[in-house]
Amino acid sequence: MNNTTNGVLVVSEADCHRLVDRQAAFSAVKAVFSAMDSGKARNFPVIREAIGHAGALYGFKSGFDRAGLVLGVKSGGYWPGNIAKGLTNHQSTVFLFDPDTGQLKALVAGNHLTALRTAASSAISIACLSRKDSKVLGMVGAGHQSGYQLRAALEQRDFERIIGWNLHPEMLSGLGEIAKEHDLPFDAVPVEEMGRADVIITITSSQSALLSAEWIKPGTHLACMGTDTVGKQEVDAVLVASASVFSDEVAQSISIGEAQHAFGAGTIEEGDITPIGAVINGTHPGRISEEEVTLFDGTGVGLQDLAVAGVAVDASLASDTAVVVDF
Ligand code: NAD
Repeated sequence: MNNTTNGVLVVSEADCHRLVDRQAAFSAVKAVFSAMDSGKARNFPVIREAIGHAGALYGFKSGFDRAGLVLGVKSGGYWPGNIAKGLTNHQSTVFLFDPDTGQLKALVAGNHLTALRTAASSAISIACLSRKDSKVLGMVGAGHQSGYQLRAALEQRDFERIIGWNLHPEMLSGLGEIAKEHDLPFDAVPVEEMGRADVIITITSSQSALLSAEWIKPGTHLACMGTDTVGKQEVDAVLVASASVFSDEVAQSISIGEAQHAFGAGTIEEGDITPIGAVINGTHPGRISEEEVTLFDGTGVGLQDLAVAGVAVDASLASDTAVVVDF
């Protein structure tokens, strides 16, 4: 982040849509995963609380990236009644501070950026871990995040077909439209048939396993992105225990991520999970055979939010539309 202006830069949702694209998000998230693994960036403990009002969950994710000199916090959460008000249920805002002085430097809308950074995370896992000849992409989930996930995944491999499953099948039409934009066939399939895919992304709010270990063929890569809270689950704990597991942050994986269930059952240990940053940095080989099942547990870390907010700040300052207010 290069905000050397006096005052606070304000970057709106509309600006974020205009200024931050998938490629920039991918590069920024990849760089911060690398910095996390080499000890140059650290996430601080997450706060997440039910506030006892409007059914909302509210919290903070914060951290400091010494490599990129980005310090800040994402504040926000989940308001289930928002959809009825024409708003997105997930709401977030990023605050970035000057790491030299602690002064607030930027206020950045976080809704579009959250979806972009989450999609970048699974896309990085696909780029690092999936078989290069992956042809069938499977989507489990069809909510707000899923379109972002699909678009980012399609940029990583030469997929020839997309299959999808969602608890509410009528929601799959949005993914079908994106497939059509890419001239790719899209088929809604029973969940048991998701194992036909070479790469599977799960992005739901499920609280119990949707995918069973026996449906998954050798060589598959799974990006499990929906489980970011205690109690959520998308895949069988047996599948997690039998796969080669990678994660954005191991501590989050075993506490709030997909690995929490296998870890709780004692079938996987902390040391069995590899930070994706190690693969990016070349200190872990990633996939070591064509038959290996790889599983990325993308729990979502604050540093991802700060990284893409930093991109938005730099792009805003480089534009002629930057809004800076006295503070
Ligand atoms: P959304 O509310 O728009 O969509 C929810 C999706 O989950 C829909 O496909 C819905 O059909 C499905 N679903 C709901 N209950 C289900 C159940 N019991 N079984 C199976 N499917 C069910 O939400 P979204 O914004 O698309 O987010 C999806 C998930 O991803 C949420 O759990 C969210 O918390 C999580 N998320 C994770 C990250 C991360 O960094 N890992 C970031 C953002 C969101």
